[in-house]
Amino acid sequence: MLDFASLLVAIGFATAFLSVILFAAWKTSRRDGFLLTCAVGAVLIAVSVGFSTIDSFHPSSWALGIAFGLLLAGEANLYGSAAQFRLGLSPWRRIATATVVSGTLTLLPLLFGFSGIAYAVGFLASAVLLFLISHQFWEARQQAPMTTLTIAALYLLVGLSFLPRAVLVLLNDGIVVTGPPRNWAQDLSIMLVIGAIPALGALTMALSQIRTAQAHRREALTDPLTGLMNRRALFDAHEAEPPPSGAAILFDIDEFKTINDTHGHAMGDRVIALFAKALKHDLPANASAARIGGEEFALILPDTALDDALRHADAVRRRFIDLAAKEAGLPCTASAGLAASGANGISTDRMLADADRALYEAKRAGRNRVVVAPLQASSPAEIGSG
Ligand code: GH3
Ligand code: MG
Ligand code: MG
Repeated sequence: MLDFASLLVAIGFATAFLSVILFAAWKTSRRDGFLLTCAVGAVLIAVSVGFSTIDSFHPSSWALGIAFGLLLAGEANLYGSAAQFRLGLSPWRRIATATVVSGTLTLLPLLFGFSGIAYAVGFLASAVLLFLISHQFWEARQQAPMTTLTIAALYLLVGLSFLPRAVLVLLNDGIVVTGPPRNWAQDLSIMLVIGAIPALGALTMALSQIRTAQAHRREALTDPLTGLMNRRALFDAHEAEPPPSGAAILFDIDEFKTINDTHGHAMGDRVIALFAKALKHDLPANASAARIGGEEFALILPDTALDDALRHADAVRRRFIDLAAKEAGLPCTASAGLAASGANGISTDRMLADADRALYEAKRAGRNRVVVAPLQASSPAEIGSG
């Protein structure tokens, strides 16, 4: 038999230190609210363990009641934190419900003096909460598979270790106990918890790091003014696979320098955002839309026939004219160059280069039109008004 009080003190200190580390991590990365919820959970568990230690020296209903209440509230916070990580929603309702339900079920028998039943129900409620936490990380497994699945496995293991504790307390000690139950299941579970705490702490911190890295990557690939992909994102997405029968369209706002010079840079930005709005409207699910330069945009339409791509490009051109007139009160137009990969398929790079030449033709021919790059060495076709 191990010294029960020393094991409890070890858990208390481990969770207390962990909560400090999680709180400090949350302070530096405030967008990860789940770290704060997890830190609150760790504090509650650390204080709960303090009351368990008091109860191990001087068994009393009140110390036991507070210990179980805080433990369940702490685990409910860990559950809320897991759901917050997965869904990004405020966890407080989930935490309140889990605390009230598990706390009431556990403390009610204690109120009537059935401390053995309170122990059994408390251990069972803990197991259920730990399973719920494990389930949240299992559901979040796409976000960072190795880390989330390891966390899920650890919570599952600790939850399982609470089950024999619930059974043995009733078998060995009965429905009224005179002190904390002492049996192999208690020792095994407590040692498992001591091992799991630093591992869960490190893995939770790793989740936050992974989130931050993912956010930075997203920001590095997104144009902040329009929310579209930037040039790098577009090329990253399409350098590998040439779409078998796709089209690429390049757009450039006409006489944009005049808009900047006449109405100011802020109005220029507004017009760029309006073009992005026109581009996003009715965007096919498999399309990639990017802002690849100041007032230049690219649209890749995989598996799209030339006629459909041409109609789409012209619809964007017309919608931009309408939006600029309605929302900015300016007579703006844009030109576009379109290239299709044809039946044999060519690389996206090649399509974009062809589209660029067609865009140049559109500008040369008087702007405010879509020009299609010739598949062979034939003359360019065009639609739109001059
Ligand atoms: P064209 O019809 O031939 O395209 O004429 P243009 O005046 O549009 O010529 P060009 O495409 O060369 O003009 C690009 C201008 O866009 C130059 C630059 O000052 C401006 N610009 C680039 N980035 C931004 C931006 O983020 N915001 C604003 N407001 N202007 C930008
Ligand atoms: Mg330009
Ligand atoms: Mg331009």
